[in-house]
Amino acid sequence: MSISINNLGHVYHQGTPLEVTALQDITLDIPQGSWTSIVGHTGSGKSTLAQHMNALLLPHVGTLSVDGLSVSSKKDLREIRKRVGLVFQYPEQQLFAETVKEELSFGPKNWGMKESLDDLSESVLEQVGLDSTYMDRSPFKLSGGEKRRVAIASVLAVKPSYLVLDEPTAGLDASGRGHLLSLLRKVHHQGTAIIMVTHDLEIALELSDRIIALQLGEVVHSGTPEETSLYISSSPVPGLILPDVAKLWVQLSLKGMELPFSCDPTVLA
Ligand code: ADP
Repeated sequence: MSISINNLGHVYHQGTPLEVTALQDITLDIPQGSWTSIVGHTGSGKSTLAQHMNALLLPHVGTLSVDGLSVSSKKDLREIRKRVGLVFQYPEQQLFAETVKEELSFGPKNWGMKESLDDLSESVLEQVGLDSTYMDRSPFKLSGGEKRRVAIASVLAVKPSYLVLDEPTAGLDASGRGHLLSLLRKVHHQGTAIIMVTHDLEIALELSDRIIALQLGEVVHSGTPEETSLYISSSPVPGLILPDVAKLWVQLSLKGMELPFSCDPTVLA
């Protein structure tokens, strides 16, 4: 059981002067229950790839399937969108309901889930670290971190097997970031696969089973955190998220870890 991507390509505005090849020849397998991070420069194709995983975008070339269900089959699309939850960047901007409870009930109602909406909403609120007193509150009057947790809870309410998050820590302060990561750890521990687009290599190295680096729409690296550290240290110059390489160099040295000798921070800074 996995998200299986084969030779996937995506071109925006194909056949026009604005044509952009956002992804090409992407082949990946993301097993159920795993934690995958997708890193890369702005414009490298991370969001486009994330949006393919729940069939919000469809491949122009190649195939994508989720637990054997293919995005090229119209009848499988609905089930794929249920199995793969997508949390956009700044998800709090998409809150729309008058109460948190309505916000959380929308997905399960839409998917015709049989469980009690009250029970589902309460359990999913608890999952994101908020208690039932939030149910009748307006999502718009919550703090930034709380809004984001409610937005994530609304995706979790549908009980996806895979949770895809696009820069989930963007714009959060250190404490909000800490809360969010511990919530994702819990969700992962409960069996949901996490696929996280992030600029933060430190998070990726700490939490992932696999890190995928994109550059100009292509996979330039796929490996475990250990393999990724080696990859970065052996090739700091070719343009893999260069500012992050400098940051990583500092982080490794602060943690007393062996420094990649080929990384010269004066060059990278
Ligand atoms: P990332 O998430 O890594 O920043 P994106 O997937 O957003 O990368 O973008 C990949 C490429 O596709 C970029 O060149 C970007 O300008 C282009 N792109 C993204 N979305 C659109 C769109 N809706 N229309 C046209 N081009 C787009």
